[in-house]
Amino acid sequence: MIKEIGVGAAGALVVVLLVLGINIMPLVFLAGLLAFLYFFVGNKTPARNFIKAGERGGSSISFSHIGGQETAKKELMEALDFVRDQKLIHKMGIRPLKGILLIGPPGTGKTLLAKAAANYTQSAFLSTSGSEFIEMYAGVGAQRVRQIFREAVKQAEKLKKNSAVIFIDEIDILGGKRGSHSSHLEYDQTLNQLLVEMDGIDGKEKIKILVIAATNRADILDPALVRPGRFDRTVNVDLPDLEGRMQILLLHTRNKPLEEKVDLKAVARETFGFSGAHLESVANEAAILAMRDASDALGEQHFSEAIEKVMMGERLERRPDEEQLWRIAVHETGHALVSEEPRPGSVSSITTTSRGRALGYMRQTPEKDSYLYTKEYLEGQMAVLLAGSKAEEMVLGNRSTGASKDFQQVVKLARQIITSGMSSLGVICMENIPGKILYESMQGLIKEQEARVEETLKNYMGIIRDIAGVLVKHEKINGDFLREKMAAVKGEARSA
Ligand code: ATP
Repeated sequence: MIKEIGVGAAGALVVVLLVLGINIMPLVFLAGLLAFLYFFVGNKTPARNFIKAGERGGSSISFSHIGGQETAKKELMEALDFVRDQKLIHKMGIRPLKGILLIGPPGTGKTLLAKAAANYTQSAFLSTSGSEFIEMYAGVGAQRVRQIFREAVKQAEKLKKNSAVIFIDEIDILGGKRGSHSSHLEYDQTLNQLLVEMDGIDGKEKIKILVIAATNRADILDPALVRPGRFDRTVNVDLPDLEGRMQILLLHTRNKPLEEKVDLKAVARETFGFSGAHLESVANEAAILAMRDASDALGEQHFSEAIEKVMMGERLERRPDEEQLWRIAVHETGHALVSEEPRPGSVSSITTTSRGRALGYMRQTPEKDSYLYTKEYLEGQMAVLLAGSKAEEMVLGNRSTGASKDFQQVVKLARQIITSGMSSLGVICMENIPGKILYESMQGLIKEQEARVEETLKNYMGIIRDIAGVLVKHEKINGDFLREKMAAVKGEARSA
């Protein structure tokens, strides 16, 4: 109310001064300067500016809204049971739990877990991010830390709750090792304030505060932050496994009509390495595609296209000319033919559609979730990657720049073989190996696979052009078409 009267009076004063013909510019400048000093130097930035909008109050997300992450949920719930049963805590003389650190890659559900934790403990929920505490003005970060703790108590009182959960995403921005930032005094002051606030929690307050922080860079956190008594519970939130992906897909398709033959297990199998956020996006994109197609329900083709979109990016409008399109088709056919050799059934689809930074691509179906790879597997993948440029060379007589990304990956795989002690160099320490020997060893591995690829492609020279032709015409072919063509060649070879 006072604010409104003030604004009204200021407006009226400006009008009067203008009517009297008085120059108001010095006044405007002075008012601007005062506002600046009030908000920034005086550290009066309203708390709502850095506590995320819509992220205050209680949380309606429960653990049942989170797919997979069974270990993380179990560990978190165990820790939270200490917060729920305060009487027992007092009786047993257990010190209060002040902080839980969630560690994992982006999009794996850390924010969801923090919200579910607030719900599970019947707490008020406030969310912010480490970057919100970093300002160029000294003392602002520390002031914001004090503000969020005060705000948490206020929110809990307002919602008539006994506890509050403060969620700080990207804690590494504010909780990196002290002295490591260029403007370290401001960073250090902010972190010190957080430590002071956490030390102030002694379990006797009326409103209990629990800080949940998330990061994917636990290695750079200041040791003072993770010492016992502060963030002393660590919960790993990893990328979901096959069962986890299936659960997440089930959650995100619950409100969408699915065609009967849609097999979510197959979608989960094809999305190895996807986070929960990726999977949510797959379900959403599939629904958008179904709507664009005017379909009543989401079909297999919508999911397949959605996976490609999430994996490779948006379809590009630009269309290469005929000559380039032919080269792309030959290149992708090369990849696909070699992929089928060591692992029949591995090609899911081949396309000349440009997406993201790829002009075309061949998609492989992962057999099962793999966390360890043998030398044979890595060599097989090297061969698949080398096959694109080799096909160009054998069919068109030369290579193009289209293979540079493939080669980067080939070199990475060769290095992986060497560092894992699977090359002829044996078990080595990379730092002690002279560059020349390393180079020669890598070249040896690559040349071996190039020869293997050439051998394989020679067997299919008769059909590369046919398949590439169909690909240019239809833009996309599936693995079954390719396998039929290959089987015919093998059949002919046997009967000859
Ligand atoms: P970041 O580290 O980037 O902040 P995060 O780990 O906090 O990411 P969330 O914000 O929790 O990830 O997840 C983003 C979105 O991804 C969620 O809103 C949800 O739609 C989806 N999601 C992620 N993980 C899961 C999961 N385990 N179950 C269901 N949905 C999930």
